[in-house]
Amino acid sequence: MVALNLIGMVVLIGVLSLYVFQRRKNKKLLLEVNYTGKALYNSENVFRFILQNVHAFIIMIDRDFVVLQTNYYDVTKAPRPENRVIRVGDLLHCTNALSAAGGCGTHAVCQLCLIRKKIRDTYIAKGSFTDYEATLQISDRQGRIAACNTSIFGEYMVVDNEERMVITVHDITRLKKAERELCKAREKAENADRSKSAFLANMSHEIRTPLNAIVGFSELLAYTEAAEEKTQYLEIIHSNNELLQQLIADILDLSKIESGTLNFTFSDVDLNQIMSDLEQLAQMRLGEKSAVIKISREVSPIECIMHTDRNRLMQVVANFITNAVKFTDEGTIILGHEPRAEEVYFYVKDTGNGIPADKVDHIFERFVRVEHEKKGTGLGLSICETIVRKLGGEIGVDSEYGKGSTFWFTLPLNGQVAETEE
Ligand code: ADP
Repeated sequence: MVALNLIGMVVLIGVLSLYVFQRRKNKKLLLEVNYTGKALYNSENVFRFILQNVHAFIIMIDRDFVVLQTNYYDVTKAPRPENRVIRVGDLLHCTNALSAAGGCGTHAVCQLCLIRKKIRDTYIAKGSFTDYEATLQISDRQGRIAACNTSIFGEYMVVDNEERMVITVHDITRLKKAERELCKAREKAENADRSKSAFLANMSHEIRTPLNAIVGFSELLAYTEAAEEKTQYLEIIHSNNELLQQLIADILDLSKIESGTLNFTFSDVDLNQIMSDLEQLAQMRLGEKSAVIKISREVSPIECIMHTDRNRLMQVVANFITNAVKFTDEGTIILGHEPRAEEVYFYVKDTGNGIPADKVDHIFERFVRVEHEKKGTGLGLSICETIVRKLGGEIGVDSEYGKGSTFWFTLPLNGQVAETEE
């Protein structure tokens, strides 16, 4: 009996211990479940927060390009369409998708869509693709849709035995813009470098030519007795002096243009007065040619005062006159100005050599010279062009080879230094 009781006690204690042990175990399990649930909840929140704020669209699609999940609506704040099948092209406002009633994939052109092809190939290969660049219409947070440069990534995966692909679309418009600007800047720097080298090579040649003539004929002059030869040498020295002076003046102007220090002083200028001064200068420039060339001025009947840089304006007309005298063997040179609504049109017309049609478009470029028999630097017109553009005007030439040219420019009546691209 006692033994039976003892056995009963032992069994009871065993059952109780088992009960307590089981309860503790259950409690621990419950705690663990609670803890895991909270962690899961937290990490899901973090995950959602990241997706909402990441600077990329992440889109999970099935094999039919149907969007299953995306952060697109969280990022753009665009309304999420209900009960409607949305494919990638619909989501990203593909113009083809929008123009077809059925949406993305139903248009004939969709068969040629390179992004579709990329995704299709990646599904077949069960692989991935990176950095596929395309222009897409993307909505910003304000709902504005604009063409953007994008970089697209795709990653094949299997979820619950179903084939899926995660597409990531990065807006790289700003990056592309910066890249383009960088390319432009590099091109500009390389061009500048090239033209600097060409400029130096040209300059050393151009300076040496008149300098050699001056030095050479000065030496000859010292040993020459004959008056006729002396006069001839002096003339050569004189003309080369002028050329050298012009060259140095041009180089100084060019270096000012290059360094952005070509300054302008604006004042009210009486155009009839200025053109009359320039006509006198033209007569002086004629020299011996006065026997074969007639210079005249078409006087504007309108009194015209314009606000501009007097010296620079004279420099341009004087350059046109010098060229007209240089490149005209006989005939006439006519200069004039014509006030128009908001601007004044200046011109120098000659009956000289004219410029071949294929050279006309390049005549304002540096060092461009059509004929090399006449002395010159090939810089004057390019400097004129810079001056006129800086003063807010236009410059050009109408020329017929063998018949003559009209060099012209316009300046605003009320000028100021214009922003120009160097
Ligand atoms: P440069 O006169 O010192 O050579 P420019 O820049 O002033 O330099 O002129 C460039 C070239 O344009 C000249 O060498 C010449 O071939 C051509 N040109 C300029 N003006 C005339 C003109 N009135 N008639 C014919 N050709 C001209």
